[in-house]
Amino acid sequence: MELPRLIKIGERNIDEFGSFLYSLNKSKKVSLISGTNVQKILRKKIERSLNLKKIQYIWHTSKDNQIESLNQIQKNVKKDNSDLVIGIGGGRSVDSAKMISYNLGKPFVSLPTAASHDGMASPFVSVKSDKPHSIVASAPLGVFVDIDIIRKAPQKLLASGCGDLIANIIAVRDWQLGHEKTGEYYGRYSADLALMSAKIVMENSGFYAKNGLDARVIVEALISAGVASCIAGSSRPCSGAEHLFSHALDKIAPGKGLHGEKCGIGSIMMAKLQGQDWKKIVQTLKDVGAPTSAKQIGLKPDEVVTALIIAQGLRPERYTILKEIEMTERKASNLAKTTKVI
Ligand SMILES: [Zn+2]
Repeated sequence: MELPRLIKIGERNIDEFGSFLYSLNKSKKVSLISGTNVQKILRKKIERSLNLKKIQYIWHTSKDNQIESLNQIQKNVKKDNSDLVIGIGGGRSVDSAKMISYNLGKPFVSLPTAASHDGMASPFVSVKSDKPHSIVASAPLGVFVDIDIIRKAPQKLLASGCGDLIANIIAVRDWQLGHEKTGEYYGRYSADLALMSAKIVMENSGFYAKNGLDARVIVEALISAGVASCIAGSSRPCSGAEHLFSHALDKIAPGKGLHGEKCGIGSIMMAKLQGQDWKKIVQTLKDVGAPTSAKQIGLKPDEVVTALIIAQGLRPERYTILKEIEMTERKASNLAKTTKVI
C-alpha cells in the first residue's frame, strides 16, 4: 500500500510550505498547478516561502477538468523538468496535479484550499472522461494544510466535505454486502477507519449546528478517509452506491451541486435502501448546513430519478445495495419522495 509520507496541518503556516517541500525530497524545482482565483490569493505567499528555501517554481493554470486541458498542462509540466508536482486548490487543481504527476511518474503534493471532499490525501481522481467514476493514480507524497485558508473558504465547501464523510457509512455497508454476496476482499481496518471519519461528523453535528463547523476536525477526518482508501487499495471504504448516484448526476446534470453535496443526498436514499437510519443522516446534513433535497442544488425531480436508475450501471462490477433492487422509475421516484429528496 502506498501512503502519504508527510502530512502537515497548521494555522497560518503557509510560510512553512517551502521548508515542508524541502524536507520531503530536497526539492529544487517544482511545478505548481492551481486555478486563477487561488493564485490571486496565495501566489505571493507561496513564492515567498519557496524563495526562502531556494526552490525554483513554475506555475500552471488549471481551467477545467476536461481531458484536453489536462493533457495540455501535462505537456507543459513535462517540459519543466521539475522534481515535484503540486496541486493547490479546492479540488480540480489537486485532482489535475495528482493525475499529471502519476502519468509523468513524479511525486505529488497536495495543498488543499478547501475541504469539500476526501481527495486531498487519497490516490483517486475524478477526471471527466469516458469513465464517469474515479480512477486510480498515486497517493500524495505530502499533504500540506493551512487551516486558516480552509476556514476562509465558503462554508458550503466544508459542509460538502461532511457529505463526503457521511457517504462512508453507506460505502462500508455496501462493501460488507459485496463481501457477503461475492466473496470480495473486505478490509476491516480500512473500513473501520473510514467509518470513524463519518462518526466524528454524525456525533458532533449538534454541536456544529450551534457553534459552527470545526474546520480542523473535518480536514483530519477527510485526510483519514483518504488514507483509508490508500490502505484498502481501492475507493471501496469511501465510495458506494451514494457515489454512483453522484457520478450519475455528473453525467446527466453536470455542474449542479458539489461532489460532497450530491454524495450526502445520495446517502440519505441509499441508507433507506440499506435499512440504516436515514433520518439521522438527514438531521446531520441539516446540522452541518449541507443540502438534503434536490431542489437546494438546482436538480429537477426527474434528474434524481434517472440518476437512481442508471447509477449501478456506471460501475457494474462494484457490488452495492443497488444490485439488490430492480430500480424502476416508480421505485426510484418513491424512494426519493419518501426521503423528501424530491
Ligand atoms: Zn467522494
